[in-house]
Amino acid sequence: MKTKSFYSFPEVVAHIKTARPTLFHSSQTSTVIPFEKLDGALGSETVLGNLSTIKGNLEMLSNGNLKVTGFVTWKEAKEFCLQHGREIMTSPTEELAGVLAGIATSCTGERSFGFKNLRSQIVELTFVDYEGKDVTLYADRKLECGIDLSTYQADFAHYKLYKNAPYPRLEFETDLMTGTEGQLGVIESAVLRTIEHFPETFIFMLLPRWEEDFKPHLEVFKAVQNFRTQVRACEFIDSNSLSYLPTEKNPGKNQDVIFLEIRKDEFEDIYENLLSHLTLINEDQIFEMDATKCRDLRVSVPRAIFERNSQMGVTKKGTDVQVSPERFEDLLNHYREMGKVGVAYNLFGHFGDAHLHFNFMPTPDKNDFCNAQLESLYSKVLEWKGSPFAEHGIGLLKRKFIAPFYNDHQKSVFRALKNKYDPKGQFFPEGFMTC
Ligand SMILES: Cc1cc2nc3c(=O)[nH]c(=O)nc-3n(C[C@H](O)[C@H](O)[C@H](O)COP(=O)(O)OP(=O)(O)OC[C@H]3O[C@@H](n4cnc5c(N)ncnc54)[C@H](O)[C@@H]3O)c2cc1C
Repeated sequence: MKTKSFYSFPEVVAHIKTARPTLFHSSQTSTVIPFEKLDGALGSETVLGNLSTIKGNLEMLSNGNLKVTGFVTWKEAKEFCLQHGREIMTSPTEELAGVLAGIATSCTGERSFGFKNLRSQIVELTFVDYEGKDVTLYADRKLECGIDLSTYQADFAHYKLYKNAPYPRLEFETDLMTGTEGQLGVIESAVLRTIEHFPETFIFMLLPRWEEDFKPHLEVFKAVQNFRTQVRACEFIDSNSLSYLPTEKNPGKNQDVIFLEIRKDEFEDIYENLLSHLTLINEDQIFEMDATKCRDLRVSVPRAIFERNSQMGVTKKGTDVQVSPERFEDLLNHYREMGKVGVAYNLFGHFGDAHLHFNFMPTPDKNDFCNAQLESLYSKVLEWKGSPFAEHGIGLLKRKFIAPFYNDHQKSVFRALKNKYDPKGQFFPEGFMTC
């Protein structure tokens, strides 16, 4: 595998001018690109181009927008904003991922419940195109790229309320770089909206195991939908996921957890108007947890699962499915059946958005069996018109599974975009747009 690290954008420009096929990357936290075993997955000429060595810069603009240039992690951006009394609205669980990479993957996270996804927070961005030129795109300008997008847009309309559709939005200029996974150019900088910071708190609810009874879970799901302006995140961690943590970190006893992020000064209001109306969860099963402890818990779960998979030598077998609220019960029922097939599993994720990560924890001999289970889930998701990969993108690992979600409208737009913005086929040529 050929690798190259870049230390400045002029170096990136010089490399782009050589037209060598390149998979540019940042922190390599993508769960859909197997960075640890890429040999054979990329073309023999493809270079792995490291952008995380480009020194980042953060600037708080006078209007409260944040300008990010080069390699900056979400953690750094978040801390920088807090120093200015501001908050970034996107909060992916993996805080060491790059902000600009987050645009490339149309990253979301727990706060998408209250603040929608990153796509809606981008004001403008600049990318390096195939000629090595800087191109600036604006979020308030319709995308006019000389390609007929009308049928593509008509198909996309169904997914407007989803965090991410099976294919990028392509409605405004900035969409060209959002969720296109670096297949049309290299993002160099971006301006993101931020909000004034108010201290937050977390409300934890202990529930029975969802496999046995998910009526209380559904009661919370329905109740929170009317509180999207106050509840910033509504997250779920099941008892199986929590079992990977040391006992002292586990807030339940063989129980599931749903937690809500709210502003501290809105606690009374939320208690009175939302929590006190829940009929299936006892008050003694509801408690407050401070932000640091909650964050620690939240990050520990996917990391523990990742480590366990690495120890077993298996690639993650997880889902990233979002369905409409009407189909949420169907999704939970389907996951319940997947839990009965004899492979260890766990479930966690963005409960309020009907977007959950079901993870098989297979031994290597169960790899193909789990893939078959996932394929059968994706055919259901297609039937339900849900979004199969609403957060982590397609990369290389999901290409096979996304294929049935594309018709000729998407394929011809992808081809036209690649011809126009990547005529030499140099930007991540193994990505989903080459179909
Ligand atoms: C424990 C864990 C939790 C996670 N939680 C979340 C979550 O809550 N929400 C979420 O959305 N994702 C999550 N992810 C997935 C991952 O963190 C995101 O996809 C993230 O955006 C990847 O960022 P990165 O810097 O690691 O990019 P990489 O993995 O290095 O690259 C990802 C993609 O972005 C492209 N890319 C990177 N930088 C650029 C650039 N400057 N210009 C153009 N293209 C570029 C690459 O070509 C590649 O296609 C999680 C992953 C892990 C391991």
